[in-house]
Amino acid sequence: MGQRHPSKLILTLLGLLFLVTGCTFTVRIPAYSVRKSERPNLYRGVFHVHSKFSHDSKASLERIIRTAKRAGLDFVFVTDHNFFKDVRTTDHRLLLGLAAYHELKLPLDPLLLFASEISTDSGHVIALGIDEEPPDLWNADQVVNWIRENGGHPIVAHPLSPQKPWRQPFMEGIEGLELFTFSDIYYTRPIKELVLKSAFSFPHQFLRSVVAVRPELFTLWDGLLTKGHAAAFGAVDAHLRWEWFGFAPENFLLYFQSVTTYVHADERSEEKILDGLIRGASFIAFELYGDAQAFTFLAKSGDKVYRSGAVLDSNEEIEWLIESPKNAHIQFLRNGKVLKETDGTTLTLTTQLSGTYRVQVYRDQKLWIVANPIYVESLVEQGA
Ligand SMILES: [Zn+2]
Ligand SMILES: [Zn+2]
Repeated sequence: MGQRHPSKLILTLLGLLFLVTGCTFTVRIPAYSVRKSERPNLYRGVFHVHSKFSHDSKASLERIIRTAKRAGLDFVFVTDHNFFKDVRTTDHRLLLGLAAYHELKLPLDPLLLFASEISTDSGHVIALGIDEEPPDLWNADQVVNWIRENGGHPIVAHPLSPQKPWRQPFMEGIEGLELFTFSDIYYTRPIKELVLKSAFSFPHQFLRSVVAVRPELFTLWDGLLTKGHAAAFGAVDAHLRWEWFGFAPENFLLYFQSVTTYVHADERSEEKILDGLIRGASFIAFELYGDAQAFTFLAKSGDKVYRSGAVLDSNEEIEWLIESPKNAHIQFLRNGKVLKETDGTTLTLTTQLSGTYRVQVYRDQKLWIVANPIYVESLVEQGA
C-alpha cells in the first residue's frame, strides 16, 4: 500500500507535521474568521502598510490587495517611507493601484489609500493628505510645519518603538499618534521567544500572546488631548521582508489581523475615509477578541446625535450611550480619567460638563476596543 502511494504518505506526514507545530509562518489560516462591515457608513480597514515602494518591504500592491481581501477589509492605508521620492504624487500611486486591481481582475475593493511616512531627527511622522515630499527637511519641527502649511496632517508613528521612538515632547501641530503599532513586537520581544511562538502556535494564539497596548501610550495620548484634538491610530506597520519567486515565508495576513480600524464615513471614497481618520471619526479594535463592528459610542444633545470625532458646542445635558457587541468591561473616560465603568453590554450616563470623552472596552481583561473622543466644548466652562 505504502509503496503504491508514496506521495500520499509524504503528504500525510507533512500534514501531521504542520498540524502538530501549527507553524504560524507557514500555515496561513486566518487568526479569526472575518466579515466585512455590514453597518451603513462604517468601513473596516488597516492603517500603516508598507509596499515595495519602501526600501524595507517587498509587498506588491497586488499582494496587499489580496491579503486585505482575505482579511475582509474595506480599505488599506499604504504609508511608504518617503514614498514621493519613488512615486511622484498620490495620483501616480493611484494609477499604480488601479493597475494592481486590473492585474487581479478585481473591482476597486478594498480601497487603497496612500500617504508618506517621513523620517525626521525626532522619529517617524505619517503625513496624511499631502501629495509631495518635504524638500530635504530633517528637523522634526520643520517637517511638521511643512506638512501643516501644505494642508497635511502629521501623525506620530510608533512613538515608543525601541528602534525608532519619538525623541521629544509632541510639538504644536501634531494631530494624532499611533496608540498601537504591531511591528513593535519585533523590537520589544526577544527574537528567540518570537521564533518559538511563531513555530509552535496557531496564528490566533500567536497574536494573543504578543498583542498589547503599553499604558504609557494612553498617557501620551491623553497628554496630547490636553492641548487639542488628537486621533489615536491602530497601526499594523506591515513589512514583507522576504519574497522569493512569489513565495513569502512570513504570514502577511497576521499583520492585517493584528489591529483593525473602523471609520465612520458617508461613503467609501478616498476623500471621506481620509477625512474620517483625520477627525478621529473612528475606533480601533483588536478583533482576535471578537468582531467589533456593532460597537456604538454616541452622544445625544437636543435632537442631535454625535459620534467619535464630533465637537459639541453645548451647555445642554448630554446623554451618552455606549454599546458593546458582547459582554465586556466598558470604561467611559473624561479628560483621561474613568468617569463610569460597567460590566455588560451597555453603559449610559448623562453629563453637563465640557471635556474630552472617550471609551475603552476590555474582554477577558484584554483591551478590545478603543474609541476616539467626542469633544464637548461648552460655551460656559463647567466642572473643568
Ligand atoms: Zn516607522
Ligand atoms: Zn512604517
